[in-house]
Amino acid sequence: MAIQPVIIPVKSYDSNANFISNRSIPAAQTIYFDSCFRYTVFMKEFIDTLLKEHTLSRENFIRLIDARTPELSAYLFEKADAVRKKHFGNSVYIRGLIEFTNYCVNDCYYCGIRRSNREASRYRLSKEAVLSCCEEGYALGFRTFVLQGGEDRRYSDETLSDLIASIKSRFPDCAVTLSVGERSYDSYQSLFEAGADRYLLRHETADEAHYKKLHPASLSLENRKQCLWNLKEIGYQTGCGFMVGSPCQRTESIAEDLLFIHELQPEMVGIGPFIPHHDTPFKDFPKGSVELTLYLIGILRLMLPKCLIPATTALGTLDPEGREKGILAGANVCMPNLSPISVRKKYLLYDNKICTGDESAEHLKSLSKRMAKIGFQIIKSRGDHPDKI
Ligand code: SF4
Repeated sequence: MAIQPVIIPVKSYDSNANFISNRSIPAAQTIYFDSCFRYTVFMKEFIDTLLKEHTLSRENFIRLIDARTPELSAYLFEKADAVRKKHFGNSVYIRGLIEFTNYCVNDCYYCGIRRSNREASRYRLSKEAVLSCCEEGYALGFRTFVLQGGEDRRYSDETLSDLIASIKSRFPDCAVTLSVGERSYDSYQSLFEAGADRYLLRHETADEAHYKKLHPASLSLENRKQCLWNLKEIGYQTGCGFMVGSPCQRTESIAEDLLFIHELQPEMVGIGPFIPHHDTPFKDFPKGSVELTLYLIGILRLMLPKCLIPATTALGTLDPEGREKGILAGANVCMPNLSPISVRKKYLLYDNKICTGDESAEHLKSLSKRMAKIGFQIIKSRGDHPDKI
């Protein structure tokens, strides 16, 4: 039988996200197989390697992503499920999300609460309001509170430290996660000393050229990464992450993300599909893919077996069963919204963000039922990374 090169169709885009062509992946130029079946077997071997070695070369990450098929995804999810079950059983941890300020000094091009968006209705929650959210969350069973906000200079180290210390003294069995952007090493240190346990800071993209497409010149990938290294060094359980399908993202960019994540070894990784916001420069760009996001969750689970990976709100926004699909792909965390209902619609990072119904903390029972339907159980504990207990 004649040996034919296998052409794997891959959509290719230029740096402005314009469709160029279908192309074959580089592997197909040098490696020859007599059938696509054998190519799938070859890709499964990449997944097996990932399972054992927790990383791949840049080229092989690109191949694994571009060559995905429903069969390959099913194989990946089966492995990811086994790894997650080994470390976490059928547990899904919950975090109560409190979006306490939507002011931000930054102007990221994709973000609905960016400084330049004059249409955003701004708010800040008082300390009492945050504590009352925690009170409500505690009664519902939450043992982690995530304080999320824009980079709001009104929250000095003293103000934030006081807030963290107050939460920790009133709810000593709870963890506090911060998600308040880039700050100095000393600032991170003082917030850690005030009692913060974890810190989420999505790096958004580890591809330098891509980073510049998404952010104004005042922000740099170098500083973003340095912040993450600082957080790790101080002792936070640290979370990074990126958007899937953000404008100008290429498979090569995602491979950079995966390599950076392997280097950083974060305790948490959050990824979600890009969703445009109508008042941003990216309003006309297409949404990211739920299917690719799920595939990447599976890859992340094999890369970081003990990692805390949320089935994100963005997944649930694009797909009514996005939460369940995320868990089945390898995620193990849900973050229902605990913010006061009056402000939830104002923290609009992207259009149509879900924040009520099963997405909200007050509907925890319904979320529990949905998880039970797919064989998982909501756990009411802090849900620390296994190596940090
Ligand atoms: S993504 Fe974060 S830092 Fe950037 S504008 Fe939005 S809230 Fe501010």
